[in-house]
Amino acid sequence: MLNPNCIFCKIIAGEVEAKKYYEDDEFLAIYDINPITEGHLVVFSKNHYFNVEEMPQKEWEKLMSISRELAEKEIKELKADGYHLLINQGKAAQSEVEHRPHIHIIPRRFGDNLKIDPR
Ligand SMILES: [Zn+2]
Repeated sequence: MLNPNCIFCKIIAGEVEAKKYYEDDEFLAIYDINPITEGHLVVFSKNHYFNVEEMPQKEWEKLMSISRELAEKEIKELKADGYHLLINQGKAAQSEVEHRPHIHIIPRRFGDNLKIDPR
């Protein structure tokens, strides 16, 4: 189910353009409009959920599985050195697009100077 006020739902519906990396019947991966490293992707379900906890377990497992596959595929293509899989849940965690969960795939390279430091 799509939400008419959601930017990701508009992308799914084809009302807003996005550069796609991957698409199947259930999921979509696009290039982040404000990439923090080269190749920064966002992977999400074609169903709108406001919060992570609303996503059914099976769908969550598929999303995680696809995200890992896409991350591994992309870092080989980019010859990157590593990656982050990152989920922001809630405004306190800097989550602005309320189509959750969406997973950021952030390719990393030695010397890229990006600081993501949860330890
Ligand atoms: Zn949505």
